[in-house]
Amino acid sequence: MAEEKGSAVGEVVHEVRSHSSKGAHVASLEKYKKLHEDSVRDPSGYWGRLARRELKWMHDFDKVKIGSLKNGDLAWFVGGKLNVSENCLDRWVEEGRGDDVAIIWEKDEPGQAVKYTYLEVLHKVCQIANVMRKFGVKKGDPVTLYMPMIPEAAFVMLACARIGAPHSVVFAGFSAEALRARVDDVHSKWIFTADEGLRGGRTIPLKKTVDDAISSCDFVNKCFVFKRTGADVSMTEGRDLWMEPELEGQRPYCPPEVMDAEDPLFYLYTSGSTGKPKGLMHSTAGYILYAQTTCKIIFDLRPGDVYACVADVGWITGHSYIVYGPLANGTTTLMFESTPLYPDAGRYWDVVETHSVTQFYTAPTAIRALMRHGPEPTEKYDLSTLRILGTVGEPINPAAWTWYFKHVGKERCAIIDTYWQTETGGIIVTPLPGATPLKPGSATLPFFGIDLEVLDPQSGKVVPFVEGEESSGVLCVKSAWPSMTRTVFNNHERYMNTYLKPYPGYYFTGDGVTRDKDGFFFVTGRVDDVLNVSGHRIGSAEIESALVAHDAVAESACVGFPHEVKGEGIACYVILKLGNEETDDLIKDLRNQIRSVIGPFASPDYIVITPALPKTRSGKLMRRVLRKIIALEADQLGDTSTLADPSVVDSLIEKVATLR
Ligand code: ATP
Ligand code: MG
Repeated sequence: MAEEKGSAVGEVVHEVRSHSSKGAHVASLEKYKKLHEDSVRDPSGYWGRLARRELKWMHDFDKVKIGSLKNGDLAWFVGGKLNVSENCLDRWVEEGRGDDVAIIWEKDEPGQAVKYTYLEVLHKVCQIANVMRKFGVKKGDPVTLYMPMIPEAAFVMLACARIGAPHSVVFAGFSAEALRARVDDVHSKWIFTADEGLRGGRTIPLKKTVDDAISSCDFVNKCFVFKRTGADVSMTEGRDLWMEPELEGQRPYCPPEVMDAEDPLFYLYTSGSTGKPKGLMHSTAGYILYAQTTCKIIFDLRPGDVYACVADVGWITGHSYIVYGPLANGTTTLMFESTPLYPDAGRYWDVVETHSVTQFYTAPTAIRALMRHGPEPTEKYDLSTLRILGTVGEPINPAAWTWYFKHVGKERCAIIDTYWQTETGGIIVTPLPGATPLKPGSATLPFFGIDLEVLDPQSGKVVPFVEGEESSGVLCVKSAWPSMTRTVFNNHERYMNTYLKPYPGYYFTGDGVTRDKDGFFFVTGRVDDVLNVSGHRIGSAEIESALVAHDAVAESACVGFPHEVKGEGIACYVILKLGNEETDDLIKDLRNQIRSVIGPFASPDYIVITPALPKTRSGKLMRRVLRKIIALEADQLGDTSTLADPSVVDSLIEKVATLR
């Protein structure tokens, strides 16, 4: 059960000692520390051993790692040959586990789940791969997916891996223009989509969006279309093709392409929170090894587990922790087509009860949305099968952390706050269940093989860790790990400038971090989200946490704007919990809340009450948009193609005009 102790930054430490820690892959903090030390002292030894033990190779590698962070020319498992789909599927079937469930598809409508065994998935993947070969898709050809959360999305990704065609999955909520830009950037001649998507009871016109997107891309050879709703959609003669009739005639075996360890497995564009999206390239062996290992250890996978990550395959979380990580471990993975609020705020917990889910992985934005509805929905369902609760995507405020821990995990499950990026391929900072003490708001400690360093942002000098002292700076990684992105598609210069040149010899995450007296990492958000008010440096996340701790606040976003006197002023956008209204007293109360939690210097210049915030389609705040709005520069919003709901921006512009 949970024990509470104080810590340097005034947070609470939870030691979760429950059945979740018994027999965990890493048994104690001491064991973690020893293993971590060994792994960073000799990364080649550590990853080389794991690669031979955990992966199926067609041909062994000659050298574990070559190149350097300084030169940006890294390569792992040089000379090794393998196929990722074989590692995710064939080997489990060969081990006699063909009847084990590989994928549970939880459809938009509750109570209609469909299960696919490893043998069934292998057959479907092979058939799709054969169709692709039939129409001329070649090894190395980028293939774009614009797919709903249906199992075929995972099948197509694995089919691409099988024939060595790198996929580029574009989240199926993006606009036609955003899709066009991504299809055009990798010059993809092949597109996979579905007639329509279905989410929260609403249909999404996917095929129509694809038509709009590629009308100007005459290099597109084929658009392969799956049926999801059966809607009547327009098909362009010679270009568009229904998949179902094509699949019928296909042999359920397709020989896997022999891939080099460093061949691209996929391209993926970052969420676009900060600017023009980058097409990051991930390699074959290093990526799959890291996805496999992190998934197994961090989620403490065991035989019989039912693992559910409720992200979308359109994001890196879906790639690594819905598809590749779980399947490379032979685990049962759940694909969730719906939303946390459909048909009501109990949907996640209904899924947990129905499928006896053991690991559940979501994002702070979903937890905050559910908190607005109170704890009742969590009480209606049996959540006793849960062992591990994961979160990813942004810093989780202690209030949301505590809600998740208490109401979903019943103070018995480990909360695994996983810090990572599209660029890192897999989780790089995280607690290990059963081993790492938990601190709300902290992703805690680095994963094995990850050598973190805190640097002074101005001088680039190392801020050394001194036991008992808190320190902060920018978060960097000192040596390469297998799944770090190798390049930006067709733009290696941008790759170097963004990640490897800012602090030569280091991988620069772009995120700020505070390290507490015990050496635990609290990621505070992007460095450009730090405000400098009258000479005080303050992370926007800190102000937001103070606001969210107020009873009336569901969510908040704080940004700076140019201020004549203070250098930077503070504007807080606030969403109220249901049942609260904007009054002068409440605004005063919120201001006092910040003054008392952080200090009078952080008192905001503006508090803007709003029903919604501008977010990317992955649910992340677009702070640069909020900054422009409060600075009255709404005519310079920049690239807003990844914005989920543009109308939110218009109403904020109006509201701010009345305040400033
Ligand atoms: P873009 O790079 O296009 O602006 P993005 O950074 O939002 O988009 P992702 O790669 O999906 O795209 O997100 C990674 C970022 O999310 C991290 O750099 C960090 O800022 C934030 N993040 C992810 N997980 C956590 C976490 N557990 N704690 C704190 N921050 C997190
Ligand atoms: Mg980023």
